[in-house]
Amino acid sequence: MSKIHVMSDILANKIAAGEVVEKIASVVKELVENSIDAGSKKIIVNLKESGTKLIEVIDDGSGMDKEDALLSFQRHATSKISKEDDLFFINTLGFRGEALASIAAVSKVDMKTSQGSDGTHIHIEGGKLITNEKSDARKGTTIKVEDLFYNTPARLKYLKSLQTELANVTAFIEKLALSHENISFTLTNNDNKIVYTSGSGDLLKVIHEIYGYTVSSNMIEINNSNDDYDISGYICKPTILKSTKSHMNVIVNGRVVSNNQVNKAINEGYFKFKPDIKYPVVVLKIDTDPTLIDVNIHPSKNDIKFSKLDALSELITKTISDALTNTLLVKEVEEKAPMQTPTYEEAIVVEELLTDDNNNEQLTLTQEVVETKDNYSDVKIKVEESSKVRENKNEEIRNLVLEPKAIIKKTYIVAEGEDGLYLIDQHAAHERINYEKTMKEFKEKKINRTSMLIPLTIELSSSDFIKIKEHFDTLESFGFICEEFGINTVVVKEHPTWLRNGYEDETIRKVLDLIIDEKEFDEMKFNDRVIATIACKSSVRANEDISLEQARGILKDLVLCDNPYNCAHGRPTIIHYSTYELEKMFKRVMN
Ligand code: ZN
Ligand code: ZN
Repeated sequence: MSKIHVMSDILANKIAAGEVVEKIASVVKELVENSIDAGSKKIIVNLKESGTKLIEVIDDGSGMDKEDALLSFQRHATSKISKEDDLFFINTLGFRGEALASIAAVSKVDMKTSQGSDGTHIHIEGGKLITNEKSDARKGTTIKVEDLFYNTPARLKYLKSLQTELANVTAFIEKLALSHENISFTLTNNDNKIVYTSGSGDLLKVIHEIYGYTVSSNMIEINNSNDDYDISGYICKPTILKSTKSHMNVIVNGRVVSNNQVNKAINEGYFKFKPDIKYPVVVLKIDTDPTLIDVNIHPSKNDIKFSKLDALSELITKTISDALTNTLLVKEVEEKAPMQTPTYEEAIVVEELLTDDNNNEQLTLTQEVVETKDNYSDVKIKVEESSKVRENKNEEIRNLVLEPKAIIKKTYIVAEGEDGLYLIDQHAAHERINYEKTMKEFKEKKINRTSMLIPLTIELSSSDFIKIKEHFDTLESFGFICEEFGINTVVVKEHPTWLRNGYEDETIRKVLDLIIDEKEFDEMKFNDRVIATIACKSSVRANEDISLEQARGILKDLVLCDNPYNCAHGRPTIIHYSTYELEKMFKRVMN
């Protein structure tokens, strides 16, 4: 190669570097994905000053011979990737070619690599080869990238704050670890350990190693499939929620991707179980025939297109929602933590606790390993149990006899059971009973209608009127018979017998509002909301005088519900203090 040619190559690399190397995380991505491709089982990433001073990647992969080592720093075309789909057939994660050359053009790169016999040591500064010699023969590759952008200082300015860069690298390594549970990852910054996973091959353990005990012990395992897609992984109980979507990890055929539709489907599964502004911790693995997906090959994006997306979304939503309904909440009551769906404030507290944990984590490697092991066996048992517990627990509560003793604040029933004290929210409990009853009759299409003595006429805005008119059929399926009645006016002539006397108008208006407020009409959600509304409106209210006899009836029906623990909107219905807990609180027992 002539000198001129080399010069132009360096220039080209410097220019290309601007595209490939835009942040520390993209350099880390290139290096670590090379390590994964080399079949490494253990990958250590050490940063100094968030990677601006040093990015070191040590792996135990196959290493390179002398020729390949040199070649890896030269620009070579990536033309072998001719169309997007090819990416999944080439068994690599990213696309190489220019990346290493670009990185070497704007930093000082030092690489030692060996396939096990003799090793190669290469040192390059600003794209110029300084050293190329024999080196020791540890199998694998160690590559150091020092002083990134030292020769293009203008580029340095594009980097975000040290903290942001580090956060990006951390998020990237965590996602890689979740998608490669067989590989052990370590990430340090200024000698502080930030991420460590053991490469155990156990996904729940990786979740434990990344998110800690609070999260991992509150996960639910999921597993399902349709004709085209297999889904599996873990979802968190709604007691663990985050303020960002970034912990919804989606892994398709072993590759971390982001896709709004899939995120939406996950969120839908949590519908009723969490506030809209909070997001769950989820590790969802989707496996499918590669021909059904299409990956955007832009290096910084991980977007993906799915064929038969609707069926996939439905599968995800249903699997999550069933898993939550089936395993949730039951366990919590047993543990005397009665809040199933946390309030916003609580969710934030949990979040802060978690964040705190992460920041304080500066243990040495060996300490961490021991700790993780101890905790983890507990996690495994907890998560496995929570799937079994529902059956037993349901039997237990069905046979529970609750004797109401008093009603305080015209809202809370104080009851005694065999094992201690129970507080029951009279409205929430009654609403749950009515919700299940109404839902059952709706599903069995056993809806009795009654004519309104005085038909209810409701005047609407033009746009609201159009929406309502479109859903006359939907309304009829619930037993509301509506007709057009002049300009922008609807008349309701019949309603289901479920409605509580004296609250008919209020309930009907509320149901119409549900249609008007629905942004994208979704039948399943809508049905649920209507039934929750009807149940709410036909139940005794808070602040309403009821007799102990009425309370006894509510308690009897409540324990027979499929989910006696929550109202139709996810609020708790019942709080239990066991005899033991009472004794503990009054210091009659000491532990
Ligand atoms: Zn209510
Ligand atoms: Zn409610």
